[in-house]
Amino acid sequence: MLRSANCGSLRSENTDDQVTLAGWIGRRRDHGGIIFLDLRDRSGIVQIVFNPETASEATRIAEELRPEWVVQVKGTVSLRPDGSENPVIATGNIEVMASEVTVMNRSLTPPFYIEEDSEADESLRLRYRYLDLRRPPMLRNLSLRHEVVKYIRNFLNDRNFLEVETPILIKSTPEGARDFLVPSRMQPGSFYALPQSPQQMKQLLMVSGVERYYQIARCFRDEDLRADRQLEFTQLDLEMSFVEEEDILNLTEDLYTGMIESVTPDKALRKPFPRITHKEAMDRYASDKPDLRFGLEMTDISELATETEFRVFLSTIEGGGQIKGFVVPGQAQFVTGQVKELEETAKAAGAGGLVHIRYRGIKPVVQLTGEEILESAGLRMPPEWHQRLCDKMGAGPGDMILLMAGHQPRLNHWLSSMRTHIGTLLELTDPNELAFAFVTSFPLFDWNDDAKRWDSSHHPFTSPADGQEFDLDGEDLGAITSKAYDLVCNGSELASGSIRIHNRQLQEKIFGILGHSKEEIESQFGQILEAFEYGAPPHGGIAPGIDRLVAILCDSPSIRDVIAFPKTQSGSDLLFDAPSRIDQKQLEELSLESTYEGE
Ligand code: ASP
Repeated sequence: MLRSANCGSLRSENTDDQVTLAGWIGRRRDHGGIIFLDLRDRSGIVQIVFNPETASEATRIAEELRPEWVVQVKGTVSLRPDGSENPVIATGNIEVMASEVTVMNRSLTPPFYIEEDSEADESLRLRYRYLDLRRPPMLRNLSLRHEVVKYIRNFLNDRNFLEVETPILIKSTPEGARDFLVPSRMQPGSFYALPQSPQQMKQLLMVSGVERYYQIARCFRDEDLRADRQLEFTQLDLEMSFVEEEDILNLTEDLYTGMIESVTPDKALRKPFPRITHKEAMDRYASDKPDLRFGLEMTDISELATETEFRVFLSTIEGGGQIKGFVVPGQAQFVTGQVKELEETAKAAGAGGLVHIRYRGIKPVVQLTGEEILESAGLRMPPEWHQRLCDKMGAGPGDMILLMAGHQPRLNHWLSSMRTHIGTLLELTDPNELAFAFVTSFPLFDWNDDAKRWDSSHHPFTSPADGQEFDLDGEDLGAITSKAYDLVCNGSELASGSIRIHNRQLQEKIFGILGHSKEEIESQFGQILEAFEYGAPPHGGIAPGIDRLVAILCDSPSIRDVIAFPKTQSGSDLLFDAPSRIDQKQLEELSLESTYEGE
């Protein structure tokens, strides 16, 4: 070994130890001929002291050392003199008095400092990702990710799961996104698809009798990268036979609680995870992935609203819409500027407007402020009406009520954006707190108004809840519920799964409702339908995303910070410069012709 100890592991107990260290040069300070250098390896940083009196040759070499050079240092661990300890670093009580130093490699001046906080632009960090990853917080993220995956593997191995790899070159399996396609050279004109998830394969493994399967699986979805997504991402994909919904939820809850308590014990984890139905989540939080770190629960006040003379309310209700909103406790003092800002936020989310009512004073209904707004809103109602409004919504003196009018599903979308906005604004979102919940009983179908057809709300393999009759051309397919569930945390969806259909007739019926022709069903799903006829056991599973979970556990705002080599928002890898054009010869080998004209 080129070293006998790790930089970050040395403590006062090591005083007088002779050590050989190896790592990268960090900060440097010179004091009256003595040189202090930080030496860094994956374990952390230690201060190296070069004293010309006792180590003249080493000090001469140290004078030439520059940031990020790789060196080997031999020396003696020594307690720092009183008053010069550094409590910020783990090795802050000691330093290493160098006797020898060897340069193992030099470095160009890096394009940004390799330190805790980088001010560097993200595209520069991605272009030099290997240097960015050398920064301690990034190495910590990679290491935490490793701990998470290690915990998952141990947990599932202990429970008799088999880790099975499934292929990356497959046939398209729908998860509702666009496939990445790979042209086949040996079969000109044919294409493989990269898996959007191993969904059909894990179900086929259940037909095979694997009973308990998992895989740390890479999934590929060719989507426009809205928000914080990646074209390829990692899921813990798992599936079990002979189970019911509760079994999967309990296993998932045990996995998450055990993992978080072991990997990030300082996080404030709320236990047990509440289970709320999709309907309840939409009614109470206007979202199927509510942030449960705070309340701000919704109330439908459509009935009370019909008593007003406010045109917007009345016409919305007449057209089948709703008036819904929530109480912002203790915020009656919001000044006009703040309220304006809320209105802007509502408009940016697409809402027509936002009605606010502030209650000041001691009694529940004392006085209305923002008179002009209320007046123009036709909301100048008697105190008795306001009393009933406050009672219904749970508002009191000092509170502010926010209301919106509209039709679903958009109304809930606006309200949920406003709820999240207020939660952040009032600092109700402690990043150290983890508020998980299972959202269950999702609808089986969602109406796709653009395409004028029913889509699966999860994916087509999801089982309907028991005891519901429905036909291909049924009117109220939107009311059919499913055995699908999500795990959400702090406003993000972290996992999604379901009990599956394992019967050919039912599966064919669902494909029919989704608008697939008989031929399409046979060509796209023939294999799984056939397998269902050879003794498919009842089964179900879930697929927790790893990237977002690790980002939450690392307090990273972006999943890019927990992926070693992520792509940008426009799908580019700035380090490898991918995607890139391919040459004519490669195209010909694949029997492809380029129609691309730009250059
Ligand atoms: N395959 C699904 C997904 O990727 C998860 C599941 O149903 O297990 O969302």
